[in-house]
Amino acid sequence: MSWNGLAERIVHGGAITREEALGLLGSDDDELLAVLDGAFRLRRHYFGRRVRLNVIFSARGGRCGEDCGYCSQSVFASSEVEEFSMVDEQAIVEAAHAARASRAGTYCIVMSGRRASRVDVDRICGAVRRVKAELPGMKICVSLGLIDSAKSEALADAGVDRFNHNVNTSRRFTPQIVTTHQYEDRLRTVETIKKAGLSPCSGVICGMGETDDDLVDVAFDLARIGPDSIPINFLIPVEGTRLAGLHELTPVRCLRIAAMFRFVNPSAEIRLAGGRELNLGSLQPLALFAANSLFLGDYLTSEGQAKELDLQMIRDLGFTIEDDPSTAGEPDQVVKVHADRMPVGS
Ligand code: SF4
Repeated sequence: MSWNGLAERIVHGGAITREEALGLLGSDDDELLAVLDGAFRLRRHYFGRRVRLNVIFSARGGRCGEDCGYCSQSVFASSEVEEFSMVDEQAIVEAAHAARASRAGTYCIVMSGRRASRVDVDRICGAVRRVKAELPGMKICVSLGLIDSAKSEALADAGVDRFNHNVNTSRRFTPQIVTTHQYEDRLRTVETIKKAGLSPCSGVICGMGETDDDLVDVAFDLARIGPDSIPINFLIPVEGTRLAGLHELTPVRCLRIAAMFRFVNPSAEIRLAGGRELNLGSLQPLALFAANSLFLGDYLTSEGQAKELDLQMIRDLGFTIEDDPSTAGEPDQVVKVHADRMPVGS
C-alpha cells in the first residue's frame, strides 16, 4: 500500500475506504514512517506546519452521576479526585488570562456532570463575555455534557466558539463503557451544537478494550457528523476506575491511530489529548506529523508534561504555533521563548 499515494488521492477529492483504514491500523512496523509520511502529506495540505495550543480549565470537579468506566470523576469510581462546585466567574476569567500568558490560542472550560444547569450556563456566559472583551482573539471552547438548543444558543450568543462533546468510542462498544447514557445521546448533542452555530468538537478515547473495527467505525462516524476538531485521548487507566490496570496501547499503535484519524478526517483539527505522554512516550513528537493540535499543560484529572517540554518539542520539529498571542500580527514563527508552567486544570 502506498500511503503517500492514498494521501494524494484524498487531497484531490478521494477518500480512504474502510478496508484501507483497517489496513493502516494493522500495518507492519516497517511501514510506520510511510504511514506517517502519508498522514503528514494531509496535515501539511490543510494546516501547514502550524500547531494549535489549547489549555483546559476545570470549572467543576467530581461528583458526576454518570458511570463512564474510564472516568475518575464518576461517583461509581473510587479514585481520589478533587471535588468542587462550580467556580465563580472571576476564576474562569483569571484562568483565561493564564492561558493567554502560556501562548494558547484556545481556552477550554470544562465541567464534570451529565449536563449543566441554566444557572451554570449563565455563569459561563458571563465569564465568556468578559474573556472575549479582555482577551481579543482568544477562542473559547466549552465542554458541559449533554446540552439542549436553548442553552447552546445562549452560549453562542455569549461568544463561545466551540463546544466539545466526545463520542468516545464506537456505537457497538459504548455499552461496555457507559450505561447511564447512550451513543445516540452523544450524537444528538453534537447535532444540537451544530444547529446553534457552535463549532463542533468531538473525539475519542482509545485503549479501552475496543477493536480495530470499533476505531474505524467511530472514525467514519465522525467523518459523517463532521466535527471541526477531533481530540484523541489515549487511556490513562486511573486507579479506582473500572478500567484501572488496562494497558493495551503501545507508542506505535498510538501513532497508527492518530494517522488513521487523519486519513479518515483529513481536514479536521486532530488534537493530541489526555494520555499522550503516558502512551506515546518518547515517540510523542512523531504524532505531530499526523495531529495538528495539542493540549498544553495539565488535563482534567491528570498532569500533563511541563509546558516548556511541549514548546521545545514544537520548536525542535520546526513547527509553528497557531494564533500565538505573542506574535499577533506577525506571520507564524517558530517558538523562541519559554513560558512558565500554568497551575490550572486538574
Ligand atoms: S466523563 Fe463526564 S459524564 Fe462521564 S463520568 Fe466523567 S464527568 Fe461524568
